[in-house]
Amino acid sequence: MLHIYCPHCAEYREEEEFRPKGEAHIARQVAPESTSDEEWGDYLFFRKNPRGLHHEQWYHAAGCRKFFNVTRNTVSYEILETYKVGHKPSVTQQASAGRSSSKGAAK
Ligand SMILES: [Zn+2]
Repeated sequence: MLHIYCPHCAEYREEEEFRPKGEAHIARQVAPESTSDEEWGDYLFFRKNPRGLHHEQWYHAAGCRKFFNVTRNTVSYEILETYKVGHKPSVTQQASAGRSSSKGAAK
């Protein structure tokens, strides 16, 4: 069982309390009436499905009932960080590349 850190409750809770809600950091269209059908379709329906680091939105359904973001490795299921919506992730693809090479060097 995973224990996920909720940045609002400031404590680790069991994964059954949480619900994944898909990709994070999707910017709402500023002017939908002047957006092409293709751009609108991309905004509504198409999401990244990366192998590796992924920024996701999660919901603490059986807790504080607030949304927050998770940076997760989709290969290992490791959760690298959680942070409040509106904040930027500290773990990014570039930072992770540096991290994994330093981990590799330690082995
Ligand atoms: Zn919470």
